[in-house]
Amino acid sequence: MSKKLVVEKTSSKGIVIDKAYVIQKIDLSPERYTISSKEDEVSKFEDALNIAKQEIANLAKGSEIFAGHNMIIEDITLHDAVISKINDDSKNVQIALSEAIEEIAAIFHMMDDEYMKERAADVKDVGSRLMCKLKGVSNNPFENIKENVVIIAEDLTPSDTALIDLNFVKGFITELGGVTSHVSIIARNLGLPALVGVNGIMSSVKEGDIIAMDASKGNIVINPDENELEEYRKLEEEFKKEEELLKQLENLKAVTKDGREVQLCANVGNILDIEMAVKHNIDGIGLFRSECVYMDNTHFPTEEEQFEIYKKAAELCNGKEVTIRTLDIGGDKSLPYYKFDFEENPFLGWRAIRISLELEDVFKAQLKAILRASAFGYVRIMYPMIISIEEIVRANQILEECKKELREANIKFDEDIEVGMMIETPASVILAEEFAKYVDFFSIGTNDLTQYMLVVDRGNKRIADMYNSFHPVVLESIKKVIEAGHKQNIKVGMCGEFASDARAAKILLGLGLDEFSMSASEINNVKKQILETSYEEAKNYANQVLENKTVESVMEFLKK
Ligand code: PEP
Ligand code: MG
Repeated sequence: MSKKLVVEKTSSKGIVIDKAYVIQKIDLSPERYTISSKEDEVSKFEDALNIAKQEIANLAKGSEIFAGHNMIIEDITLHDAVISKINDDSKNVQIALSEAIEEIAAIFHMMDDEYMKERAADVKDVGSRLMCKLKGVSNNPFENIKENVVIIAEDLTPSDTALIDLNFVKGFITELGGVTSHVSIIARNLGLPALVGVNGIMSSVKEGDIIAMDASKGNIVINPDENELEEYRKLEEEFKKEEELLKQLENLKAVTKDGREVQLCANVGNILDIEMAVKHNIDGIGLFRSECVYMDNTHFPTEEEQFEIYKKAAELCNGKEVTIRTLDIGGDKSLPYYKFDFEENPFLGWRAIRISLELEDVFKAQLKAILRASAFGYVRIMYPMIISIEEIVRANQILEECKKELREANIKFDEDIEVGMMIETPASVILAEEFAKYVDFFSIGTNDLTQYMLVVDRGNKRIADMYNSFHPVVLESIKKVIEAGHKQNIKVGMCGEFASDARAAKILLGLGLDEFSMSASEINNVKKQILETSYEEAKNYANQVLENKTVESVMEFLKK
């Protein structure tokens, strides 16, 4: 008998029928057992160490991250600490390793130097690799995938998704995560059908089950019968045909019937995303989530490391805009190498621009990298989570210092680089017209704006029904921000997920939005809406939608 699951919200559309590959969370806690021979424990450690050394040495050839790991594993300190715990204290190898790693990481963590402090995370990474060897488990959960599969997992991190082989992985379903969570965004960027936040998926699926998923509608069938298989094969065909039709729009500009053109740009997190996005004839990058560069790292990326990435981005976009958002960390996003203090309300806490303004060296390294990249294309800077004019003024002062230092060093950059801000807080909506005097462009971040306007945590499944960007308060905010921006003659874009909602396209167009930025895979869908309407018609439509003062009546109106 097949089993069905239905999810309300889609994460990344598409149809897939394939075998399930279940990723079990690996338990790396050390086992407690009494040892029978010290020699055996020592030799288990020496074996694990030799294999891990070999692996790391190979990885280190192409990566600075692993060069750091190499130094740690080659250092005699770790080796001697483990051996002495076995020989002198009669501890088993797993306990000995776990304690030694904790002690060495603590020493690094206590150091004053930021760089050395960050090495604590590397020590722990090396420890995890060794523990995997001792327990006989793989540290790459995707290593054994050699056929087409749908991944089933508790959760996936950005570094997990970097390990995924797209030749075989055809979709994924996770127990945790929301529509605007990083795992959803990554799925859309990769163009993989995915559903996240699926309650009970881990307990319902076992390895090798067949999964039929219509991620566009939120339907999952586990072990479908012949009729259901037939139905999903048909859906798959239809979806492919639809995608083909939409693909034909790719070379058209997004212009309404009466001639208003809007920009359709891509949201990206890394160079791979950009390489995929530029194939779709996009108008540029409306949001480069630079925090992905920091999250996929073992240390704060240096100016040089970032420069290489941003320069590549500028070159790939070949004169089209590349909007780089400065580090937007905190909230639900952490860094493996930086210890954030515990916060009662992280979304209302130390995040985004607040961190940049405090960790000034980190901020300057990023700004200089962006400035230097601006010599190679049309690069723009965007500040996240702004709530006050003072923040803009201070950030721009630091930017000016960076420019001055580059000038003094005779390093080229775009002297007229545009600087914009995200509108994603109630404060920035209310004071939008004033803010517009200080920046060159706005980009509305509806993911956070919706959460802060409605006071609904964007990742909380319990209240996910309340999280709705069609709420009149959010629509009114968008209207106000676009009007404020236009009054001060600056362009207003949107890079929150709402920009990719086909139901919202006509409203946003009618409200005067200049740029829509979204996962590249969604662009044609929105373009279709723009091509099929006129600006005049869209303005009327937007006015009518905004006459509705409850979410229900807005949703009813849209259905008509
Ligand atoms: C947003 O808040 O809408 C946004 C685009 O930023 P992020 O999703 O990265 O918070
Ligand atoms: Mg945001």
